[in-house]
Amino acid sequence: MTDCLFCKMVAGDIKPAIVFEDDKVLAFRDIHPQAPVHILVIPKQHYANLNALDDAALVGHIVQTAVAIAQQEGVAESGYRTVFNCNGDGGQTVFHLHLHLLAGRQLAWPPG
Ligand code: 5GP
Ligand code: ZN
Repeated sequence: MTDCLFCKMVAGDIKPAIVFEDDKVLAFRDIHPQAPVHILVIPKQHYANLNALDDAALVGHIVQTAVAIAQQEGVAESGYRTVFNCNGDGGQTVFHLHLHLLAGRQLAWPPG
């Protein structure tokens, strides 16, 4: 989608701090980190959110990518959180599917 921020990152028009990339996903550091480690894992194909996603293998790949990055960042043992925000009540602000990987501090539960 031409007017989508994250599609522009996939296309290379906007350059985030990339931590991992393959043919299906891109992972980069969040511009407003909510924890010492805050990385977004996105599919290269545009889906607005989980409601639009019909590809179970892709969900699995996104999650496995987040786990690999957690290991790479050295937080797999201390712990981390993975979150897909969906639509208004979920707190979604960018409507290109993304998985948040948050780590590096004690995270509160329940979330606000
Ligand atoms: P959401 O609120 O949709 O779940 O998450 C969107 C995330 O995208 C937010 O954490 C926000 O900080 C991040 N974000 C928004 N614009 C940019 C940007 O231009 N670059 C990067 N790296 N992250 C962004
Ligand atoms: Zn997009």
